[in-house]
Amino acid sequence: MTIEHHPPEELIARFAAGRLDPAEHIVIAAHVAMCARCRRFVAAFERLGGAALEAAEPAALAAGACDAAMARIDAGDTVPAVPRSRRAEASGLPRTLDYYEIGRVRRVAPGLTMRPIVVPGATKSRAFLLMADPGTRMLEHTHTETELTCVLQGSFSHEGGRFGPGDFDLGDETIDHRPAVGSDMPCVCLVAMSGKLRINGLLGRLIEPFIRL
Ligand SMILES: [Zn+2]
Repeated sequence: MTIEHHPPEELIARFAAGRLDPAEHIVIAAHVAMCARCRRFVAAFERLGGAALEAAEPAALAAGACDAAMARIDAGDTVPAVPRSRRAEASGLPRTLDYYEIGRVRRVAPGLTMRPIVVPGATKSRAFLLMADPGTRMLEHTHTETELTCVLQGSFSHEGGRFGPGDFDLGDETIDHRPAVGSDMPCVCLVAMSGKLRINGLLGRLIEPFIRL
């Protein structure tokens, strides 16, 4: 797998610091799991964060804080481990999605379906899997806010280049594009989207109310 398109460094840094919206986090996590280059960047950033912590002046803990933390651990007050779902395993989805509930397939437009992903704590963005038939040509569109995409399978192309498995694409209000899905196989993408799609042109304005993402 040759990955050519990576997230901007600022997004990777916020990912490493745990500061992304949870829906955006899972898209970057999927890319990082597939991309050795970005994994090295995350590791470097984490070392930097660790060094900053070591250099910080020690602060006194509240009385009894350590005992309280140990008591919570003993009481099992932690996130329970969830076994890898057989459904995720069978579908070839990345392991980073193992612990999320994935909804049923919904039709979006001709040749296009989606499955919503339940992301606890997500406020700014929503996450979903987007599945497109081979050769599907999306309508020219733009975004009112941001769209983070990681290709899981197949490919699509637009003015920014060709995007295959592992590639990352960032859309925002400044980018008008009309992606075309590769003709050889279906394309599956993991997407975090905030705001809305804006379909350009008269046809777009007419059908926009019918497209639900
Ligand atoms: Zn990368």
